[in-house]
Amino acid sequence: MKAVCWMGKEKMEVHEVPEPKILNPRDAIIRVTSTCICGSDLHLYDGYIPTLEQGDILGHEFMGEVVETGPAVNREKLKAGDRVVVPFTIACGHCFSCEEQLWSLCDNSNPNAWVAEKLMGYSPSGLFGYTHMLGGYAGGQAQYVRVPFADVGPLKIPDGLADEQVVFLTDIFPTGYMGAENCNIRPGDTVAIWGCGPVGQFAIRSAFMLGAGRVIAIDRVPERLQLARAGGAETLNFEDADVLDALRDLTGNMGPDSCMDAVGMEAWGHGAMFMYDRIKQSMRVSMDRPLVLRQCIQACKKGGTVSVPGVYGSFDDKIPLGAFVNKGLTMKTGQTHMMRYMQPLLERVQRGDINPAFVVSHRLPLDSAPDAYRTFRDKQDQCIKVVMDPWAQAAAA
Ligand code: NAD
Ligand code: ZN
Repeated sequence: MKAVCWMGKEKMEVHEVPEPKILNPRDAIIRVTSTCICGSDLHLYDGYIPTLEQGDILGHEFMGEVVETGPAVNREKLKAGDRVVVPFTIACGHCFSCEEQLWSLCDNSNPNAWVAEKLMGYSPSGLFGYTHMLGGYAGGQAQYVRVPFADVGPLKIPDGLADEQVVFLTDIFPTGYMGAENCNIRPGDTVAIWGCGPVGQFAIRSAFMLGAGRVIAIDRVPERLQLARAGGAETLNFEDADVLDALRDLTGNMGPDSCMDAVGMEAWGHGAMFMYDRIKQSMRVSMDRPLVLRQCIQACKKGGTVSVPGVYGSFDDKIPLGAFVNKGLTMKTGQTHMMRYMQPLLERVQRGDINPAFVVSHRLPLDSAPDAYRTFRDKQDQCIKVVMDPWAQAAAA
């Protein structure tokens, strides 16, 4: 089968690889019909997260049709022929964390937990296509994928909904939603969101769903700012304005009630602090450029909340802890607890509250992945979100 393989920094290749097989009784094999590139994949593409190996298959946002299930998968829950979206976090469903609905912290799904424990003390769950430190699972940018604990994660999709309307339930819609939930929004609150990528776009719309009165969205890419405005946000271009000053002006000198970092470890910016981050990152002293996290803490209203869906990987410094402590802020973060959100957000799609397809800018065959990674990373060609069809070329050939 065809799969998108990481062959080194900025080097993706489509290879013929063996098809996956059922390895454990609770596995399923999915024939992938749509698979996306995520901002999180860019951190791998750019070589900032360790423990990838040459040939690893990436991709954690995918959906498709079940072709086979292991003997321990209850057929009432999942069977061949079902059409499903698969969450990017892998969870066993029975451990302490899963019982608490902290699905992205599953205690059983990372067979390489000891590696993550060295870095983080305790290991989060395994993820599809996201390094050996997080399980070494083959990802879903492929024609087929093996899904472990298949009786827990995959959500069946009723007829009548196109892939594009539901495929973002695999990650970025729930991630934007949990990012907004983590803002502790009270009716009428002002929420500032850094990053108008796909996660930021869903965060903007989710913040309004949760009662925000105003959303101020920050980025520098014109079409992303435009899409943020279409979602009801006011926008700030960080190339044109001093973000902290502008936020103070826009909020009557109070600061936003909550600030969300939907950018993560590859933030862009200017000035001495940004140069400092870049040098440390290029020397591999740090994985992260935590510029946006610093701004969130400094911009936030006293007593407010900082929500961090953006991904970070290492030990970072120059974090304004003084501001964080003395302003009495709360910070909430995490990989998304996917299974809490998938069904309720599917129902929102069914009710017509939102059509998640608004974020799609590029529909491509899987063979285009090497170029698509670059186009998405460099924000060329007005790229906001890439959805790939693993069978498009194969059918034409
Ligand atoms: P993306 O790369 O498409 O978007 C990031 C956006 O941030 C870009 O539009 C970029 O121009 C903007 N940006 C860069 N520097 C900025 C700055 N200083 N101020 C404001 N905006 C700035 O990525 P995405 O897919 O939207 O993902 C965003 C983040 O969310 C990534 O770090 C990704 O890893 C993370 N993520 C987390 C989870 C989770 O479970 N927590 C899930 C998915 C993605
Ligand atoms: Zn993702």
